[in-house]
Parts: sequence; C-alpha cells; structure tokens
Amino acid sequence: ITQLYAPLNFLGFIYREMKHSLADMERMFVIMEAGAEVVDRPGAKTLASRDVAVRFEDVDFGYEPDRQILHRLSFEIPAGSTLAVVGASGAGKSTLARLMFRFYDPTAGRIAFNDMDTRDLTQDSLRAHIGIVPQDTVLFNDSIYYNIAYGRHDATREEVIEAARSAHIHDFVMGLPQGYDTQVGERGLKLSGGEKQRVAIARTLLKNPPILIFDEATSALDSRTEKAIQHELADIAANRTTLMIAHRLSTIVDADRILVLDGGRVIEEGTHRELLARQGRYAEMWRLQQERRDDAAVLELGQ
Ligand code: ADP
Ligand code: MG
Repeated sequence: ITQLYAPLNFLGFIYREMKHSLADMERMFVIMEAGAEVVDRPGAKTLASRDVAVRFEDVDFGYEPDRQILHRLSFEIPAGSTLAVVGASGAGKSTLARLMFRFYDPTAGRIAFNDMDTRDLTQDSLRAHIGIVPQDTVLFNDSIYYNIAYGRHDATREEVIEAARSAHIHDFVMGLPQGYDTQVGERGLKLSGGEKQRVAIARTLLKNPPILIFDEATSALDSRTEKAIQHELADIAANRTTLMIAHRLSTIVDADRILVLDGGRVIEEGTHRELLARQGRYAEMWRLQQERRDDAAVLELGQ
C-alpha cells in the first residue's frame, strides 16, 4: 500500500505545483501578449525615489507597424498629482496605461520617470513603483486571499482584510462558504466584472505604490458602490502620481489636469472648469453625461 501511496502523494505534489505554475503561465501570457520584447538593458538603473514625475515626450506607438495608435503624444504628470484621461473608446487611453507600465516601448519619443528614460530602468523597480487596476482584470487560479495578497507578499492577514474592506469586497467574501479561501479564476468561482475590479482595487490598496494607474477602474460597479470606492481611490491618489482613465466624467472633476484624447492625439487639456469654459469636446461629453444621468433618474422615479 505504501508503494502505491507514495506515487499518489507525489502526484498530489505535482498537481499543486502545476496549479501554481498554470497561474504563473497565465500571468506570463498576459505579459507575453503585451510585448515579450521588452527586456532590461545591460546596466539598467533602479528607480528608487518614491516621488516620481512621469513624462511622455513626443510618443509614437502602434501595436502593428502599419497602424499607428498614438501620435506624438506629450504630457507630464508632476510628482504627486493626478492626470485624468478621457476620450471615446479606441482613442488610445488603455494604450497609455500599458506604455506607462512598460508592457511596450514607444516606437518614437520617450517616456521618462524623473527624467530617466524608462528603457534605462529595471522593469522590476519600475513595476514595484506602480499599482495598476486594469480595465479587465484577470485573476489567478487561486484563492481570493492569494489574489489580494499578491499586491504585497509580506502583508499580514489583517492588512489583507483591511484592503478588502476599503475596496468594499470584504462582506461579499465573508458571505461565501469558504470565505477568503474560495478558489477563483477560470477553474474556480467566476466573479462578476465589478467583483474582479474590487479584488484588483484591494490588491492595489494593499501594495500602496507611489504611482497609480486606474483604467476605468470602477466602470463595472453600480453607481452607489462606485461613489463609495471613489472616496478610497481619491484618498490613496492624494499625493501620489496618478493616471486616472475615466469612464464617467463625474469621477474626475477634481483631477489636477484632464486630457481629452481622440485618435491617439490630445485634442484638449486643462482643468474641469477650463474645459467646460472652452465649450469643446469635453464640455459636450459632460453635457451628454449629465443628460443621461437625468434619464436614469427619471427611469428610477418611474419604477
Ligand atoms: P481605449 O482604451 O481608449 O478604448 P485602446 O488604447 O484600448 O483604446 O486602443 C486604441 C487602439 O489600439 C484601438 O484601435 C484598438 O483596436 C487598438 N489596440 C488595442 N490593443 C491592441 C492590441 N493588443 N493589438 C492591436 N491593436 C490593439
Ligand atoms: Mg480602454
């Protein structure tokens, strides 16, 4: 019997290892899909400061050589300030986020962190500085706990739960029969878009990085939960260098600066007030969203 048992035990071990490497493979896929060609330069420097100014300088970019997506894009996010980016779907907003996280390098121009070209920095140090809540979160095939704690491996259980509370996902997790041990991902419990977003937000709050990228981070949430989480996000974004890609304009009225992107070009830029006064594209988007909100209010009243 022991003779049979030992191999079975070993199979169990293999299985557990495989499960983890599958998750890692998935992660690799995400990274590979997003530009495996990005590697550290010999002698790449470490980004050390926690006060980081980010600058895009005449950045051109395309996923394919024959289709340019970003055209000579320039802007700065001074250390500790928030830049919001708005624009129609396909304008290139998520592409900005991916470049800032260095999934890809620009085809021309440069992206600088504290005046250092990102291509001269180690990826590890760059990514350790950035917390990103992507538009579509892919979770690891592991427990909810693992998926949040991934933000910072040395976090205590209390810190993980605290982050989950701030992201308004704790009560949901406690309502599951296996709580934080619930397996999620492709082979586990399938979470809704909003639940996945909140797990990703919890992970980022836990990581507590000096640079934040929110890519329509609350777009899948109902407006009440969005409002509540918006407070947490504003709290953590205060005094951090933040790129906030917005879906609802009401979430970015307090941004230090707003860029309106269209076809990979900046067509307007300024504060919320300045852009309203301009009566251009932003003012038009604002008016449409206000109207839509009125429609929604009428619908709710009608029920
Ligand atoms: P937004 O976030 O503003 O909706 P994106 O940055 O996602 O826009 O996309 C900008 C353009 O780049 C779109 O035309 C989109 O089809 C294209 N694009 C996005 N991702 C890829 C990709 N991985 N490969 C090829 N084209 C892509
Ligand atoms: Mg996008």
